[in-house]
Amino acid sequence: MDLFRVLVVDDEKDFLETLVNRLKKRNVDTVGVLSGEAAVDEMKKQLFDVAILDVKMPGGMDGIETLREMKKMQPLCEVILLTGHASVETSIEGMKLGAFDYLLKPVRLEDLLIKLGQAFEKKDSHEQKIRGARIKQLIRFPGRVFDQEREDS
Ligand SMILES: [Mg+2]
Repeated sequence: MDLFRVLVVDDEKDFLETLVNRLKKRNVDTVGVLSGEAAVDEMKKQLFDVAILDVKMPGGMDGIETLREMKKMQPLCEVILLTGHASVETSIEGMKLGAFDYLLKPVRLEDLLIKLGQAFEKKDSHEQKIRGARIKQLIRFPGRVFDQEREDS
């Protein structure tokens, strides 16, 4: 069974295919797309734990626009930005918009795997906190809910 689901977004086809294949070999359920538009379409279909997003992409949606959309659609999905030396400013903007972190291209697979692991950990602890808050909410006001039900009947 695949433990994690990752979306990789990069306009460089060779890089994208290599990365997707390497992650799949490590039992990461990975989907690769070449544009921001395709990433948005993919996020409409399924939930992702982490997205790896190239900042520099030609055409309609650039990396930052894509990041904004992603955070709107799946706020719990952690996003790792891939950036060139010339676009570090964009990465900083991305971090302010809620990206988990960024890596400079060319990326070493080992570095990416470490970052990916950290992003999974963060997502997992975030989800645990949300579950914990829901449980607290449930056990904190059980009486109120029942009183309400009694009044209604
Ligand atoms: Mg690019």
